Amino acid sequence: MQYETVIGLEVHVHLKTKTKAFCGCSTEYGKEPNSQTCPVCLGLPGSLPVLNKMALELTIKTALALNCTVNNYLKFDRKNYYYPDLPKNYQISQYDMPISSNGFIILTSGKKIRIKRAHLEEDAGKLIHEKDSSLVDYNRSGMPLLEIVSEPDINSPDEAYEYLSKLKLVLQYIGISDCDMEKGSLRCDANISLRKMGAKELGVKTELKNMNSFKAVREALGFEIKRQTEALNNGERIIQDTRLWDDQKEITTSMRSKEEAHDYRYFPEPDLVPFSIENKFIEEIKKEIPELPQMRFERFVKDLQLSEYDANVIIQDKNFADYFEECTRLYKNAKKISNWLCGAVLSELNSRKVDIQELKLKPKDLIGLIEETEKGTVSNLVAKEVLTQIIDTGKSAHAIISEKGMAQVSDEGALEKLADEAIKENPKSVESYKSGKENAIMFLVGQVMKKSGGKANPKVVGEILKRRLI
Ligand SMILES: [Zn+2]
Repeated sequence: MQYETVIGLEVHVHLKTKTKAFCGCSTEYGKEPNSQTCPVCLGLPGSLPVLNKMALELTIKTALALNCTVNNYLKFDRKNYYYPDLPKNYQISQYDMPISSNGFIILTSGKKIRIKRAHLEEDAGKLIHEKDSSLVDYNRSGMPLLEIVSEPDINSPDEAYEYLSKLKLVLQYIGISDCDMEKGSLRCDANISLRKMGAKELGVKTELKNMNSFKAVREALGFEIKRQTEALNNGERIIQDTRLWDDQKEITTSMRSKEEAHDYRYFPEPDLVPFSIENKFIEEIKKEIPELPQMRFERFVKDLQLSEYDANVIIQDKNFADYFEECTRLYKNAKKISNWLCGAVLSELNSRKVDIQELKLKPKDLIGLIEETEKGTVSNLVAKEVLTQIIDTGKSAHAIISEKGMAQVSDEGALEKLADEAIKENPKSVESYKSGKENAIMFLVGQVMKKSGGKANPKVVGEILKRRLI
């Protein structure tokens, strides 16, 4: 039987505010447990929440960047449930009137994934389970959290992965969160069901949790498709449940069955008066939204003539893209800059495990190096070595090349001597070149390059060899 996969994603993001959503406690990560709490976020009787204006601004900013409609009326609701990490026994969230709705993200294929809603709520505390006991840390309790819910428009694990990557990139560009999944500042749950091809009704869905990376989301969904397909083919019924992804075993296991929807007994939060948001306020926030990744990608391809591949690599990190743009202001050939950035510079970043901001390479020094290669002072091969040394020492390309005598040797006298040596030492290659195998000369050029320590100008070497071998 052929089945169609239907996936909906729910993403939670910590907003980058200095203080919590409804109190003045710090949101700094990694502090001593329970050191950042107060009566409000501990849910003590008599305490009253006050909305953090910055949290509201960042929520609206995100909603606009995700093409959502922002509602002018702000109302919070209580979502009631009991759990040890929730000191008030309810979470302040939004129920029937989310701050924004009806947005979308467009995938590379052109497919539109609709965003149902994005609303503001508070996070719960964190339980730490030990051998015989559990500990609770309320530092996270009351952190501003944005919940972004997609429509079930996603039909494969790959589409889910792309949606999440694109979403994260937008969030990073507008700077509303550090989106660090390891710190829990971005979390994703997935709903997945299968239905017979062409069927209109949705199948029974399961909810997947505990995925700590986008890769894990993709793998968990892949596993779940296989599991549900096998069950359906065997005539079994899919049970609506919540399942945990096990990264080690690469399987999902049932945490709890969810035969009936939870009754959260939502009701309007009486401690926060609903209020209207002026259009002017929303318009001001709109002005702060920078150029978004998709627009930047299109501009790089259209105006700077980058390949789609390179443009895509560059926009994946806002700082990297900003760096690229700074270079283009210093040097006209954007394509050449992108070759360097996506090649040698990126591999330096990877091997040093740093990002472009941490790398000791000023745009003007990279451009200086590119100009030296243009002038023919150094070959591309040597230039890569120079690049490493610029990063290590912080000196300019020019200084390194002259200090270390790395300039390309184009002096014919010196190169002729090396060419003669290479000819003498490699009679076989000489013979095959003379018998008509033009490529054999490349081997000889390589030998001369080796003898010169990579400094010979390969073009000049080629010409000398050809003259010598007539
Ligand atoms: Zn507090």
